[in-house]
Amino acid sequence: MISHALQHVNTRIAQACAQAQRPREAVTLVAVSKTFSAKAVIAAIEAGQRDFGENYVKEGIEKIAQIASHYAAFKVTNLPIWHFIGPVQSNKARQVSEHFDWVHSVDRLKIAERLNEYRPLHLPPLNICLQVNISKEASKSGFAIAEVKGAAEKIVQLSRLRLRGLMCIPDPSADLSMQRRSFEQLRMLLDMLRAQGVTLDTLSMGMSNDLETAILEGATIVRVGSAIFGPRSYSNCVN
Ligand SMILES: *Cc1c(COP(=O)(O)O)cnc(C)c1O
Repeated sequence: MISHALQHVNTRIAQACAQAQRPREAVTLVAVSKTFSAKAVIAAIEAGQRDFGENYVKEGIEKIAQIASHYAAFKVTNLPIWHFIGPVQSNKARQVSEHFDWVHSVDRLKIAERLNEYRPLHLPPLNICLQVNISKEASKSGFAIAEVKGAAEKIVQLSRLRLRGLMCIPDPSADLSMQRRSFEQLRMLLDMLRAQGVTLDTLSMGMSNDLETAILEGATIVRVGSAIFGPRSYSNCVN
């Protein structure tokens, strides 16, 4: 049951916050609903969940529309906040910028420029994080650590974006001490940027298996999918 699973994840977050001596409100749970139906998202909303993450543009936009129409008849003040966390192709940047509240996975300057260009004027600036390739794998997307400062300085000039922080997806095969090293590196990079005057408040790191480690290292957003919605089947996620 989604409500029980959600409650369990919230307990894990609360315990990790207590262990890290951080207030519970310091960490936002983004429920990653990719491959799951609008019905599953509605069940999570009814159980009090507010923030949702999607990886695929077409699937995400369809779900956002379904949820909006489901709640259209009600006076709902707490409509979901939608986070795009998958790779952004430049020909999809417009759709992403029009429909989402956050993009965690900005991995090139060109993508930031596209998102900025297409952000509708009636919406607030799009919240973004820079994805950082901490483990330096050639196969992984994200800015190299050395590129982040230069990119951040350019991106803060883009008025339709609000640069919030950094995001990483460490190698899932690594053990927890390796994950912890990666999270620590991302936190140190954020601290360095802040010390240099860039206003940032977000570290998006930690998933179902490593959210406690991420919270100990300062995560302000954890992105949790399977621990809430169950195992994924990728058969239905055509992009
Ligand atoms: C799928 C996904 C998640 C959630 O992963 P789980 O292991 O199911 O919690 C988090 N972040 C990103 C970028 C993802 O693609």
